[in-house]
Amino acid sequence: AELHDPADRRYRYPFINCVDCGPRFTIIQALPYDRVNTSMDRFGLCPECAREYHDPADRRFHAEPNACPVCGPRLRLLGEQGVVVAEGEAALQHARALLRDGAIVAVKGLGGYHLACDAFNAQAVARLRERKQRPHKALAVMLPDLATVNRYFQPSAQEVEELVSPARPIVVLDGVLSPLVSPDTRDTGVFLPYTPLHHLLLEGFEALVMTSGNRLEEPIAQDEAQALKLLQQGIAGAVLAHDRSVLHRCDDSVLRVVEGDLCFLRRSRGYVPAPLRLAADSPVVLATGSDLKNTFCLVVRGQAYLSQHIGDLADHATYAFFESEIDRWLELLRVTPALVAHDPHPAYLSSRYASRLDGIPLVSVQHHHAHVASVMAEHDLKGPVIGVALDGTGYGEEGSVWGGEFLLADRCHFERLGHLPLYPLPGGEKAIEEPWRMAAAICRLEDIEWTGLAGRYEDVVRLLTAGINCPLTSSAGRLFDAAAALLGLCEEAGYEAQGAIRLEAAADLSVRRRYSYELRDSSEVTGLKALDFGPAFAAMVSEARKGVAVSELAAAFHNTIVAGCAELATRLAQERGLGEVVLSGGVFQNRLVLTRLSKELRERGLAVYTNNKVPTNDGGLALGQAAVAVARWQAGELPCV
Ligand code: ZN
Ligand code: FE
Repeated sequence: AELHDPADRRYRYPFINCVDCGPRFTIIQALPYDRVNTSMDRFGLCPECAREYHDPADRRFHAEPNACPVCGPRLRLLGEQGVVVAEGEAALQHARALLRDGAIVAVKGLGGYHLACDAFNAQAVARLRERKQRPHKALAVMLPDLATVNRYFQPSAQEVEELVSPARPIVVLDGVLSPLVSPDTRDTGVFLPYTPLHHLLLEGFEALVMTSGNRLEEPIAQDEAQALKLLQQGIAGAVLAHDRSVLHRCDDSVLRVVEGDLCFLRRSRGYVPAPLRLAADSPVVLATGSDLKNTFCLVVRGQAYLSQHIGDLADHATYAFFESEIDRWLELLRVTPALVAHDPHPAYLSSRYASRLDGIPLVSVQHHHAHVASVMAEHDLKGPVIGVALDGTGYGEEGSVWGGEFLLADRCHFERLGHLPLYPLPGGEKAIEEPWRMAAAICRLEDIEWTGLAGRYEDVVRLLTAGINCPLTSSAGRLFDAAAALLGLCEEAGYEAQGAIRLEAAADLSVRRRYSYELRDSSEVTGLKALDFGPAFAAMVSEARKGVAVSELAAAFHNTIVAGCAELATRLAQERGLGEVVLSGGVFQNRLVLTRLSKELRERGLAVYTNNKVPTNDGGLALGQAAVAVARWQAGELPCV
């Protein structure tokens, strides 16, 4: 109301806040949360703002970032070499004019820079994709208000509740605003303005693409120097900056509502650093997470603080962010870790970081046990449970590559009871980026005639025959990759899980039939059960050759994986006399797999638990690692600290 009231002293001021809203985590230098400990320290309060700040009856009483046009932060539009082109309202108007002309503008928000452009300007979106080297991956769009959201989408009451919540996450809604925004999917990541600046910027626009201001896997631009790099690299045409510093980078959170439950794809701004309770008490535990979609976790007196999204540690700037952010969280919470939990993968940078912390006992937590434990922690389950981890890859016992595991798990330990079929990964990591390799490996092993890729197929056969660089994997993600490649949906992935995402989008939801599969004893490890989807792949390829619609084949493939996993999980639960099944791992971002498998298991009388507070992908792994460390400490298995 103040923003739009010409008589108000904060009329059109982009940094309005009160004690209930505005930045907090992203501007904190140290605790306690007082203005001197924030990046608002450099702005002296004017007499009017000081009066509000000190008046217990005022809604701005001790609102630490309190500001007004007289004393607070100011907008600036930066052109080349950081030259100030315009300030204040003029900077805003200039940026809006550029956006109307189809330019890409880097806009400073709460936790870093966004790259913005008009979502309905096809050339602008195409240019943004080209410059960001992101040809297909979905982009998030910010719409000015709920009325506009309702014009393009049909959000449920619960989706609306999330869209307008103070956290203002990106909510993935059914429907496509424009194929340029989400070319691979039938849904769109939508969010509403969450700062006054966004409200002003969106005036007169139906939708702006607002994607994180970075290149490839780099962390988002935090300050003007980093934003100017986006300008110099030709990604942004101008920089809409201001002089309130971002002290903690924080990406937007992304979630989806699935049959009444929240599914986080990324838990970051708006939710961090709110803790989750693990136990009544505990030593200080640092869990270093995964190398992909990294978050870390600090447990203090039984409360688990999961960090904001850090990203993929293979990027050196992201790794530097990981190290410095851990230090700053330890400083903020004024703690030193007594235990460090980590993934056993010896090549993970997050594991190597853990092993370099001198003198602190290490707790190694197997990747899929950590996934399952993250759900157990969320729902306060003690176990034992049957844990179904459907994942990309994770380090298994004796260095094998796991990714489709059926575990008997409690909070401390696990036993592997079954797994998905083992297939070679021709070329190792390369097979993840090139789903056709996986398709070729499966066809050769299952004796399926595939005419997909004449020349390249022979290369893979040579690798397989020689057994060079072909580690076996039980990965669930790779099965979906292979199916996508076999159906001609994705031979080379432009981004993580592109094949699986296209396969899910292709599936006709009305198709209920499935292919046959087999449940047998594991060929690799005695005493384990393994699923065999060989007959399913063969039937699918033969139907494809006969011209059956891809939408039907994609659905039948999903249904087959679901049926196999449901049967194996149910059988194991019966054998062990257990009634609780936990589902976790990156593959459960696939809504079809998540909903159909949950339903099948519930219909067989089992209680099903999934991730609703942290991501089911590796972004939630650190919580599981922390939960296992705390449980082992409680059980007296760790040195008394
Ligand atoms: Zn003031
Ligand atoms: Fe994982």
